[in-house]
Amino acid sequence: MKKDHGLLIVLSGPAGVGKGTVCNALRDVDDSIAYSVSATTRAPREGEKDGVNYFFKSESTFKEMIANDRLLEWAKYVNHYYGTPLQYVHDTVGSGTDIILEIEVQGAAKVKERYPEGIFIFLAPPNLAELRKRIEERGTENLDLINERMTVAKEEIEMMAQYDYVVENDQVEKAVQRIQSIVEAEHCRKDRV
Ligand code: 5GP
Repeated sequence: MKKDHGLLIVLSGPAGVGKGTVCNALRDVDDSIAYSVSATTRAPREGEKDGVNYFFKSESTFKEMIANDRLLEWAKYVNHYYGTPLQYVHDTVGSGTDIILEIEVQGAAKVKERYPEGIFIFLAPPNLAELRKRIEERGTENLDLINERMTVAKEEIEMMAQYDYVVENDQVEKAVQRIQSIVEAEHCRKDRV
């Protein structure tokens, strides 16, 4: 990553670990970091807004975005497509602003291939029982979907080794502080000053 460029920060980890919550909490306390809004083919959950939480797309539009190379990465996750619009990330980093991508692990691996200089942070659950409780408490999924998500989550946790940092999400405020410390430390790296 060039000195005058912003940091490309990837926050990944299993669904239900609290990536969204941690990202929102970070957003509340830190407006120096930009947030990438993903495209998805899944339906909006209650309260979600197009262009704010996601860009909600049809499958054909999403496939067009892939074909036209408009996504930095994309992944099919539990029957739906998710992807990061490339242009916004490119412009933001190019203008010197840090950007955070909150994405699942397959997508994170693809970003690593394309931007090895990115900062890869794995948000880890205190344990799998806690993760299941969190997925269930969200109450938006049926039992089959919960089990499917748990299987995916176990595989995802094995990918932790490929990350630069592991942040345990035992408490949201602590996780946010740890991420801020990582970002600050990355800005102090001798190759960036
Ligand atoms: P959810 O449907 O719960 O909002 O998201 C499901 C999973 O997709 C989460 O792990 C979330 O981080 C991930 N996700 C959201 N946006 C993207 C994206 O642009 N790319 C990838 N690869 N995953 C994403």
